[in-house]
Amino acid sequence: MTIYQNLIAGEWVGSDATKNINPSDTNEVVGLYADGTAEDTRNAIAAAKAAFPAWSRSGIWERHVILKKAGDEIMARKDELGALLAREEGKTLPEAIGETIRASQIFEFFAGEALRLAGEVIPSVRPNIGVEITRDPLGVIGIITPWNFPIAIPAWKIAPALCYGNTIVFKPAELVPGCSWAIVDILHRAGLPKGVLNLVMGKGSVVGQAMLDSPDVTGITFTGSTGTGRRVASASIEHNRKFQLEMGGKNPMVVLDDADLAVAVEAAANSGFFSTGQRCTASSRLIVTEGIHDKFVAALTEKLKTLVVDNAMKAGTHIGPVVDEKQLKTDTDYIEIGRKEGAKLAFGGELITRETPGFYLQPTLFTEATNQMRISREEIFGPVVSLIRVRDYEEALATANDTPFGLSAGIATTSLKHATHFKRNSEAGMVMVNLPTAGVDFHVPFGGRKGSSYGPREQGKYAAEFYTSVKTAYTLA
Ligand code: NDP
Repeated sequence: MTIYQNLIAGEWVGSDATKNINPSDTNEVVGLYADGTAEDTRNAIAAAKAAFPAWSRSGIWERHVILKKAGDEIMARKDELGALLAREEGKTLPEAIGETIRASQIFEFFAGEALRLAGEVIPSVRPNIGVEITRDPLGVIGIITPWNFPIAIPAWKIAPALCYGNTIVFKPAELVPGCSWAIVDILHRAGLPKGVLNLVMGKGSVVGQAMLDSPDVTGITFTGSTGTGRRVASASIEHNRKFQLEMGGKNPMVVLDDADLAVAVEAAANSGFFSTGQRCTASSRLIVTEGIHDKFVAALTEKLKTLVVDNAMKAGTHIGPVVDEKQLKTDTDYIEIGRKEGAKLAFGGELITRETPGFYLQPTLFTEATNQMRISREEIFGPVVSLIRVRDYEEALATANDTPFGLSAGIATTSLKHATHFKRNSEAGMVMVNLPTAGVDFHVPFGGRKGSSYGPREQGKYAAEFYTSVKTAYTLA
């Protein structure tokens, strides 16, 4: 089998490899991907540092052309790359193709942004002096990504980093190197100069750690768990390095008595269980007022009965497998915890056997949960949802905000008053009205508050806040 190698200083290198296994069919090896070392990482950082002076001064047309070419190729290969994504991560083929299209759109967006780079020229408060405010690239950006969005998250970090003139060392999650390798290959062939984008696949504790330890990495953008995020933060503070963290969520979806039942059920089923619940924006807490509670539970349970859990590549599958054995154990451990805490298992909770061996778990709904239970406070990151009954809107809002996280929050209501109040008073970074808490646009800011995020927002033109450093220059006229 071919080994997909690391890209360091424009050369494909590496002979040790790790198997990329399909969670829908554990007999299938998706590919062999290089297992990078700390030395590989240091070489990649040195290459990125050497490439920075020229790339940071490259013309914006060159950056536009490369980013546009990448976006076009990803779109042209959406079915093939979507299938690779579904096979390595386990989300359904339509979801995987959708994510691939989104990656392409992100490259197209930043291809446009490259042509819109601008600063400000403003008068000084003192006479005869001019002030210019410009944005400079940061330098070498370390990119560390999780397994749950194997093409979109790398795209929304790589595209702005290149657009604003930075060079990159990129470490994807070890579980899903395939899509990352593909987009690095596409960008390399699109004409990026040597060393501008370096790929080092391998373990977080080796490759990721070597990035954290290097004084030559000037910025780190990280998406992943809260625990690893804390390590990124403390190592970055030590090096006086800029960093950005996107971490977990325990996103609430409030359902009020006046909600359109069909809209509420659709939003809850989609954001609680699609992508196997493995989205940082998943609605893992449903907070439902008394008047609609029983009707909502009955309708959601009926909906869950119709959802097909099976091989991600099979037509008709709504929910693919859990990503791996470790995550499956986390999910089943939490199901046990929920039972012991006294929540009522209203649906699911069991492992499923399918034609191909994989990590299949029923969508699982706990009712009669409280917001103090561990299943309602800790991020599970699987298809396991707690439903909490509350008296009224005021209690719903207080419960929604009573969490260490603050990524996304939703409300299902037909009341303009409650929708408006919720948008203003939710403590989350993203708020959805009559929509799933998961599922966002690519051209507007993405990110959370409290324990979910740290640093500037990602995506859209707000991405410039992280990937550039502002300079203020004064000139005597
Ligand atoms: P992890 O924190 O385990 O891993 C994230 C990345 O960090 C991986 O590439 C991992 O490498 C790497 N890593 C692990 N240890 C280190 C280290 N010591 N130094 C540097 N890098 C390291 O998270 P998961 O991949 O398990 O992703 C799931 C988590 O991500 C969930 O908590 C989820 O909520 C969060 N997430 C947040 C999003 C957001 O935008 N807020 C979006 C998507 C996910 P390795 O390959 O070895 O695992």
